[in-house]
Amino acid sequence: MLALEIENLQKTYASGLQALKGIDLEVEQGDFFALLGPNGAGKSTCIGIISGLVNKTAGSVRIFGHSIDQEFTFAKSLLGSVPQEFNFNTFEPVEEIIINQAGYYGVPARIARPETERYLKQLGLWQHRRSQARRLSGGMKRRLMIARALVHQPQLLILDEPTAGVDIELRRTMWDFLDQINANGTTIILTTHYLEEAERMCRNVAIIDEGNIIQNSSMASLLQQLNSETFILYLREELQHAPQLASFDNVTRLDQHSIEVEVPESLSINDLIGELEAQNIVVERMRNKVNRLEELFFKMTAKNDTAGLA
Ligand code: ADP
Ligand code: MG
Repeated sequence: MLALEIENLQKTYASGLQALKGIDLEVEQGDFFALLGPNGAGKSTCIGIISGLVNKTAGSVRIFGHSIDQEFTFAKSLLGSVPQEFNFNTFEPVEEIIINQAGYYGVPARIARPETERYLKQLGLWQHRRSQARRLSGGMKRRLMIARALVHQPQLLILDEPTAGVDIELRRTMWDFLDQINANGTTIILTTHYLEEAERMCRNVAIIDEGNIIQNSSMASLLQQLNSETFILYLREELQHAPQLASFDNVTRLDQHSIEVEVPESLSINDLIGELEAQNIVVERMRNKVNRLEELFFKMTAKNDTAGLA
C-alpha cells in the first residue's frame, strides 16, 4: 500500500517561478522518508500542496489511494501536517490549540482531551498547557505543532523542516519521539536540508533540487554512493561480459573495451587492478568517473553554504 503517490506534480507561482517541474514520488506505508534538498528546492511547495495549503498547477496527489482533489476531506483526515512556519493563534493556550484542531477533524473533546494530554506529556509540554502559545520557545512551538498534527490519529505525518531552529539536545528527543511514532505504524515524511538528519532517521530518501527529483533511493544506497568512487577502466582485450570480482559488487560493462567499477571507501584502486590481473584482464587506461552525486552536492553546497550536505 502506498501512503503517498505523487504524479507529475507541477507548481508555477504567480510570479512565473516554476517551483516544481513535474515530480513523481511514491512512499510506502510504514516508511520513514526524507525529502532532502537545499533551500529553495521546492520542498515546502510540495508539502504545501499535499496538505492543501498550496494550489498545484498540474499533477495528482493520492494519500493512501485517495485523491486530494476528488476526496479532499477524507484524504486530509488521513494526514497530519507540520508546516515550516508557525500557523497557530499565538494568543490561544497550548491545550486549546490542540483540542480545537481535533474538533476541526470531528474528534469530540472527550476523546481529544486524553490524546492531547498524552502527546503534551510525551513532548514535554504538559506543564505549559495553559500558557499562551506565544510564551513558548521556538522548540516548544515546533513540538506544539507536532502534537496538533497528531491529535486526530493520522496515518501519515508530514513534517516540513521539523528541527529548524531546534537545539541539538531537543533535536535528539524529537528524533526519538518520531522513531516511536513510526514504530507504532505511522508513516512519516519529513523535509530537511541536513543530510545528517535524514541519515539518522530515514530509511528512504528523495533529493529535490530546483523543482526536480534528482535522486530517489534507500538511505543506505545513497550513503554508499556518497562514500564510494566510480572508475572507468579501458581494457586491452575485448570483454563479452562484465567480469565477476570478489570484492567489487558494482561492475558494469560499458562496451567491449571498457567497464565501470564502483570502488568503496574500504578498498583501493590497487585492489581492483590486482583482482583484474588475476583474471588476466589488463587495464590500459583509467579515469575517474565524475560522480553525479558529488557534482550535485558540490553544486548544492556552492549555492548554499549552510546546507549541511558537504
Ligand atoms: P524549500 O522549501 O525547498 O526551501 P520552497 O518550496 O519554499 O523551497 O520554494 C521553492 C521556490 O519557490 C523558491 O524559489 C521560492 O522562492 C519560490 N516560492 C515559494 N513560495 C512562493 C510564493 N508564495 N510565491 C512565489 N514564489 C515562491
Ligand atoms: Mg521550505
